[in-house]
Amino acid sequence: MILLLPGAIIHDEMVPARAPWLHLIRAGQTLRIVDLEGNQAVDFLIYAAEDDAERYSAQDTIAAQGNIFLREGSVLLSNDARPMMTITASSVAYHDTIGGACSCESNTLRYGHHTKSQHSCVDNFLLANRSAGRTKRDIVPNINFFMNVPVEPDGTLGIVDGISAPGLTVDLRAEMDVVVVASNCPQINNPCNGFKPTAIRMIVAV
Ligand SMILES: [Zn+2]
Repeated sequence: MILLLPGAIIHDEMVPARAPWLHLIRAGQTLRIVDLEGNQAVDFLIYAAEDDAERYSAQDTIAAQGNIFLREGSVLLSNDARPMMTITASSVAYHDTIGGACSCESNTLRYGHHTKSQHSCVDNFLLANRSAGRTKRDIVPNINFFMNVPVEPDGTLGIVDGISAPGLTVDLRAEMDVVVVASNCPQINNPCNGFKPTAIRMIVAV
Protein backbone atom coordinates (compact mmCIF):
# COMPACT_ATOMS: atom_id res chain seq x y z
CA MET A 1 0.00 0.00 0.00
CA ILE A 2 1.64 3.25 -1.14
CA LEU A 3 -0.09 6.40 0.03
CA LEU A 4 0.46 9.79 -1.55
CA LEU A 5 2.67 12.20 0.36
CA PRO A 6 1.01 15.52 1.20
CA GLY A 7 3.22 17.82 -0.91
CA ALA A 8 6.36 18.31 -2.98
CA ILE A 9 9.34 16.06 -2.23
CA ILE A 10 12.38 18.06 -1.05
CA HIS A 11 14.66 15.18 -0.02
CA ASP A 12 14.84 11.55 -1.11
CA GLU A 13 17.70 9.38 0.09
CA MET A 14 18.58 5.71 0.28
CA VAL A 15 20.17 4.80 3.61
CA PRO A 16 22.36 1.72 3.11
CA ALA A 17 22.07 -1.31 5.33
CA ARG A 18 23.71 -0.74 8.75
CA ALA A 19 24.16 3.03 8.24
CA PRO A 20 23.26 6.04 10.43
CA TRP A 21 21.16 9.02 9.27
CA LEU A 22 20.64 12.55 10.63
CA HIS A 23 18.32 15.14 9.13
CA LEU A 24 16.58 18.41 10.03
CA ILE A 25 12.82 18.23 9.50
CA ARG A 26 11.01 21.57 9.69
CA ALA A 27 7.63 21.98 11.35
CA GLY A 28 4.91 20.94 8.92
CA GLN A 29 7.19 18.75 6.79
CA THR A 30 6.50 15.02 6.55
CA LEU A 31 9.16 12.32 6.74
CA ARG A 32 8.32 9.00 5.11
CA ILE A 33 10.41 5.96 6.02
CA VAL A 34 10.20 3.13 3.50
CA ASP A 35 11.03 -0.41 4.58
CA LEU A 36 12.29 -1.35 1.11
CA GLU A 37 12.82 -5.08 1.58
CA GLY A 38 10.66 -5.72 4.65
CA ASN A 39 11.26 -6.33 8.37
CA GLN A 40 14.08 -3.81 8.70
CA ALA A 41 14.14 -2.18 12.13
CA VAL A 42 14.77 1.58 12.09
CA ASP A 43 15.93 2.88 15.49
CA PHE A 44 14.84 6.48 15.84
CA LEU A 45 15.55 9.49 18.09
CA ILE A 46 14.20 13.04 17.86
CA TYR A 47 15.79 16.23 19.20
CA ALA A 48 14.24 19.72 19.20
CA ALA A 49 16.26 21.74 16.66
CA GLU A 50 16.16 24.85 18.82
CA ASP A 51 17.47 23.20 21.99
CA ASP A 52 18.41 19.52 22.03
CA ALA A 53 17.86 19.30 25.80
CA GLU A 54 14.30 18.69 24.61
CA ARG A 55 14.10 15.27 22.97
CA TYR A 56 11.77 12.31 22.34
CA SER A 57 10.45 10.75 25.52
CA ALA A 58 9.11 7.20 25.34
CA GLN A 59 7.67 7.51 28.84
CA ASP A 60 5.69 10.71 28.12
CA THR A 61 4.48 9.31 24.79
CA ILE A 62 3.35 5.97 26.24
CA ALA A 63 1.68 7.53 29.29
CA ALA A 64 -0.17 10.16 27.25
CA GLN A 65 -1.63 7.69 24.74
CA GLY A 66 -2.15 4.91 27.29
CA ASN A 67 -0.59 2.33 25.00
CA ILE A 68 2.88 0.95 24.42
CA PHE A 69 2.58 0.64 20.64
CA LEU A 70 2.87 3.45 18.11
CA ARG A 71 0.22 3.53 15.41
CA GLU A 72 -1.31 5.95 12.93
CA GLY A 73 -2.41 8.92 15.05
CA SER A 74 0.25 8.47 17.74
CA VAL A 75 1.76 11.78 18.86
CA LEU A 76 5.45 11.54 19.76
CA LEU A 77 6.03 13.70 22.82
CA SER A 78 9.16 15.32 24.19
CA ASN A 79 10.45 15.27 27.75
CA ASP A 80 8.58 18.59 28.06
CA ALA A 81 5.39 16.75 26.97
CA ARG A 82 5.21 18.79 23.76
CA PRO A 83 4.29 17.17 20.43
CA MET A 84 7.43 16.64 18.32
CA MET A 85 6.03 14.51 15.48
CA THR A 86 2.72 12.81 14.66
CA ILE A 87 2.38 9.48 12.85
CA THR A 88 0.01 10.57 10.09
CA ALA A 89 0.00 7.25 8.23
CA SER A 90 1.39 3.77 8.72
CA SER A 91 0.97 0.73 6.52
CA VAL A 92 2.39 -1.43 9.35
CA ALA A 93 -0.05 -2.12 12.19
CA TYR A 94 2.18 -0.95 15.02
CA HIS A 95 5.74 0.03 15.95
CA ASP A 96 7.83 -0.63 19.06
CA THR A 97 8.57 1.83 21.87
CA ILE A 98 10.33 -0.35 24.44
CA GLY A 99 12.80 -2.71 22.75
CA GLY A 100 15.63 -0.15 22.81
CA ALA A 101 18.74 0.03 20.68
CA CYS A 102 21.27 -2.74 20.19
CA SER A 103 24.78 -2.10 21.51
CA CYS A 104 28.01 -4.04 21.84
CA GLU A 105 27.17 -4.38 25.56
CA SER A 106 23.67 -5.81 25.01
CA ASN A 107 24.86 -8.01 22.14
CA THR A 108 27.60 -9.48 24.33
CA LEU A 109 25.17 -10.12 27.17
CA ARG A 110 22.49 -11.70 24.98
CA TYR A 111 24.44 -13.42 22.24
CA GLY A 112 27.96 -14.04 23.52
CA HIS A 113 31.35 -12.40 23.57
CA HIS A 114 32.04 -13.17 19.90
CA THR A 115 29.45 -10.48 18.97
CA LYS A 116 31.29 -7.66 20.78
CA SER A 117 32.86 -6.20 17.63
CA GLN A 118 29.63 -6.22 15.62
CA HIS A 119 28.30 -2.83 14.54
CA SER A 120 25.29 -1.64 16.54
CA CYS A 121 22.57 1.00 16.70
CA VAL A 122 24.26 2.75 19.61
CA ASP A 123 27.39 3.06 17.41
CA ASN A 124 25.20 4.63 14.70
CA PHE A 125 23.56 7.03 17.15
CA LEU A 126 27.00 8.12 18.39
CA LEU A 127 28.33 8.55 14.83
CA ALA A 128 25.32 10.56 13.66
CA ASN A 129 25.14 12.72 16.79
CA ARG A 130 28.85 13.53 16.79
CA SER A 131 28.41 16.25 14.11
CA ALA A 132 26.02 18.04 16.50
CA GLY A 133 28.28 17.62 19.53
CA ARG A 134 26.03 15.09 21.22
CA THR A 135 27.48 12.12 23.09
CA LYS A 136 26.42 8.91 24.80
CA ARG A 137 24.65 10.86 27.54
CA ASP A 138 22.27 12.26 24.88
CA ILE A 139 21.01 8.82 23.81
CA VAL A 140 17.60 8.11 25.33
CA PRO A 141 15.16 5.20 24.91
CA ASN A 142 14.32 5.15 21.21
CA ILE A 143 11.54 4.15 18.85
CA ASN A 144 11.95 1.05 16.70
CA PHE A 145 9.97 1.47 13.52
CA PHE A 146 9.03 -1.77 11.70
CA MET A 147 10.11 -3.85 14.73
CA ASN A 148 7.78 -6.32 16.42
CA VAL A 149 8.08 -6.50 20.21
CA PRO A 150 4.83 -8.04 21.49
CA VAL A 151 4.05 -7.91 25.21
CA GLU A 152 2.23 -10.85 26.81
CA PRO A 153 -0.48 -10.42 29.50
CA ASP A 154 2.11 -11.16 32.22
CA GLY A 155 4.43 -8.44 30.89
CA THR A 156 6.83 -10.76 29.05
CA LEU A 157 8.22 -9.20 25.90
CA GLY A 158 10.17 -10.60 23.02
CA ILE A 159 11.82 -9.57 19.78
CA VAL A 160 10.12 -11.82 17.26
CA ASP A 161 9.47 -12.13 13.53
CA GLY A 162 8.45 -8.82 12.04
CA ILE A 163 5.04 -7.74 10.77
CA SER A 164 6.42 -5.42 8.12
CA ALA A 165 6.86 -6.29 4.45
CA PRO A 166 8.67 -4.92 1.38
CA GLY A 167 7.58 -1.38 0.54
CA LEU A 168 5.63 -0.67 3.72
CA THR A 169 5.91 2.85 5.09
CA VAL A 170 5.40 5.12 8.07
CA ASP A 171 4.80 8.87 7.70
CA LEU A 172 5.72 11.37 10.42
CA ARG A 173 4.70 15.03 10.36
CA ALA A 174 6.98 17.33 12.32
CA GLU A 175 5.08 19.45 14.85
CA MET A 176 8.18 21.56 15.60
CA ASP A 177 11.57 21.90 13.92
CA VAL A 178 13.30 18.62 14.80
CA VAL A 179 16.55 16.81 14.15
CA VAL A 180 15.89 13.15 13.45
CA VAL A 181 18.67 10.67 14.19
CA ALA A 182 18.08 7.17 12.86
CA SER A 183 20.02 3.92 12.82
CA ASN A 184 19.31 1.43 10.06
CA CYS A 185 19.73 -1.43 12.52
CA PRO A 186 22.73 -3.72 11.84
CA GLN A 187 21.57 -6.48 14.22
CA ILE A 188 22.10 -10.02 12.88
CA ASN A 189 21.52 -12.06 16.06
CA ASN A 190 17.73 -11.81 16.31
CA PRO A 191 14.82 -11.61 13.82
CA CYS A 192 14.38 -7.80 13.98
CA ASN A 193 16.01 -7.48 10.54
CA GLY A 194 15.17 -10.95 9.30
CA PHE A 195 18.85 -11.78 10.08
CA LYS A 196 19.80 -9.72 7.00
CA PRO A 197 20.02 -5.91 7.35
CA THR A 198 18.78 -4.07 4.24
CA ALA A 199 18.56 -0.51 2.88
CA ILE A 200 15.75 1.91 3.74
CA ARG A 201 14.54 5.07 1.98
CA MET A 202 13.93 8.44 3.65
CA ILE A 203 11.66 10.91 1.84
CA VAL A 204 10.82 14.40 3.10
CA ALA A 205 7.84 16.30 1.70
CA VAL A 206 6.64 19.83 2.39
ZN1 LIG B 1 19.91 -2.29 16.35
